[in-house]
Amino acid sequence: MDEFEIIRRFFSRADRGDGIVVGIGDDGAVLEPSPGRQQVTVVDTLVAGVHFPADLAPSDIGYRAVAVNLSDIAAMAATPRWMTLALALPDASEEWLSAFAEGLYAAMAEFGVALVGGDTTSAPVVMTTVQITGEVEPGRALLRKGARPGDGVWVTGTLGDAAAGLAGLEGGPMHRELVARFTRPSARVAYGQKLAAAASAAIDVSDGLVDDLGKLCAASGVGAEIDAGLVPLSAGLREQVDTETARRYALTGGDDYELVFTSSGAPPDGGIMPVTRIGSVVEGDGVVVLADGERLAVDAGGYRHFA
Ligand code: ADP
Ligand code: MG
Repeated sequence: MDEFEIIRRFFSRADRGDGIVVGIGDDGAVLEPSPGRQQVTVVDTLVAGVHFPADLAPSDIGYRAVAVNLSDIAAMAATPRWMTLALALPDASEEWLSAFAEGLYAAMAEFGVALVGGDTTSAPVVMTTVQITGEVEPGRALLRKGARPGDGVWVTGTLGDAAAGLAGLEGGPMHRELVARFTRPSARVAYGQKLAAAASAAIDVSDGLVDDLGKLCAASGVGAEIDAGLVPLSAGLREQVDTETARRYALTGGDDYELVFTSSGAPPDGGIMPVTRIGSVVEGDGVVVLADGERLAVDAGGYRHFA
């Protein structure tokens, strides 16, 4: 199968949709933004063996490639619209491509994103680069900057599950629910939009809670104090690992794709998704983690590239 056949067979499903003047097939896509709205553009590359286990199911690779970008869109309080995909593959097996496309389109359909272009090349390992463009009302994009001392620090969902799931995929004890938190992360897009008017700052948790909250603090010029005992853990995680490990995963494990945000008042209701206050914004800098009233030494960084 050559590149053209791959595009025609796997990546040319209904590329018509709102605002698509010219979709896949020309040298570029022509898009019509909604009048008066600002655009938010995000991009993320995932490399086999670096960001996910090389033997991960292709449908999960496809789903995740979209979901991790939607998480950035969610953290900006934007509405996702258009997507491009640069796909690099060592070989082009029909079975692999069809499963990959199934996961990719499942995530796109769930969030109303249309694929409008891309690039297909060969490479020694699988690499996906997805770029998504979304829209916001002018000035309403939610930034890392804006947290003020006295604001509460809140998180959506539960933390640490994806790290435990990844450990399972890498040969540790397997727990299906936790593995699914790694393979099929839930981008908090709808909730992110509700935060546009309610939060002072936000970031999504891709590298680990302490690490990502630290980035929000640095951008806002503030510090944060959080209580490890308040960080929400799922029942599955508490059953599967000891308290110490659960806490470590929740504080420093990455890949949860939940939102951490700051707010001066009570945030919007999350419905069945828990929204939990874990601490406060303080003057100064850095993130202090308290456990039973004592300062906990957190081996900071989540995952840093080129560190
Ligand atoms: P060019 O050589 O002009 O860059 P290509 O031949 O690479 O164009 O691509 C042809 C068309 O197919 C373009 O519209 C491009 O955006 C689209 N395309 C290529 N690869 C993909 C992909 N993996 N997913 C979606 N669209 C793709
Ligand atoms: Mg061209």
